[in-house]
Amino acid sequence: MVHFVGAGSGAADLITVRGARLLGEADVVIYAGSLVNPELLQYVREGCEIHNSAQMTLEQVLDVVRSAEAAGKTTVRLHTGDSSIYGAVREQFDQLEALGIAYDVCPGVSSFCGAAAALRAEYTLPEVSQTVIITRAAGRTPVPDRESIRSLAVHRATMVLFLSTGLSQKLQEELLSGGYPPETPAAVVYKATWPEERVFRCTVGTLAETVEGAGLTKTALIIVGNCLGADYERSKLYDPGFTTEFRRGGE
Ligand code: SAH
Repeated sequence: MVHFVGAGSGAADLITVRGARLLGEADVVIYAGSLVNPELLQYVREGCEIHNSAQMTLEQVLDVVRSAEAAGKTTVRLHTGDSSIYGAVREQFDQLEALGIAYDVCPGVSSFCGAAAALRAEYTLPEVSQTVIITRAAGRTPVPDRESIRSLAVHRATMVLFLSTGLSQKLQEELLSGGYPPETPAAVVYKATWPEERVFRCTVGTLAETVEGAGLTKTALIIVGNCLGADYERSKLYDPGFTTEFRRGGE
């Protein structure tokens, strides 16, 4: 059996209770060492076999899983954040299916949630934005043309950019040409929820200089949108005049 486990965004105690239990029961752990906090390995039991996938190919990962299965062992494949976001898990799922190896998935706290916590932000502010776009700038890994930053920027929704700090100049140009006014609030969160977390607030117009000035090249998220600004409407849900399924509103 293979358990895909979301490690959370950094802090070792942000893994789910289930994820920590699965780690503690595993015979073999393959963790994404480029981003997973090594402190999480404190949850494994003594004698657990540990592999760092940062130096491995998909084939090598599958070899480890196959040998573990042959020996009747349980494997945890530990991915950073939540494995559904840029986790390269689908290719593993499909290979395991083809090999007839059982697996399941335990979700984790994605770094976009960790970053919201660091910023004390609400991405879906009433009358500001009710949409969060999770995307990345095209670099060595291409992005389909119809999802260009420029085209997504038209919505002026909350946008969270993964894997894009090294492309900030082009990114800023695309955000502006797509439709965000230069004064739109933005932020860069480095290593959200790690002890070395840092938050840089700026605007779309000063995004590239902020990223470059801070010397950030990786493990950072860029957040863009008026949800980081001062203006919004209060929620209907907690408005005294608004009736809900659970509460009758007064006039
Ligand atoms: N599955 C992960 C994302 C993996 S892609 C998740 O759900 O968070 C790797 C990218 O995620 C990094 O390049 C960076 O953009 C972002 N990232 C991961 N952890 C981060 C953190 N703690 N703080 C800021 N960005 C992070």
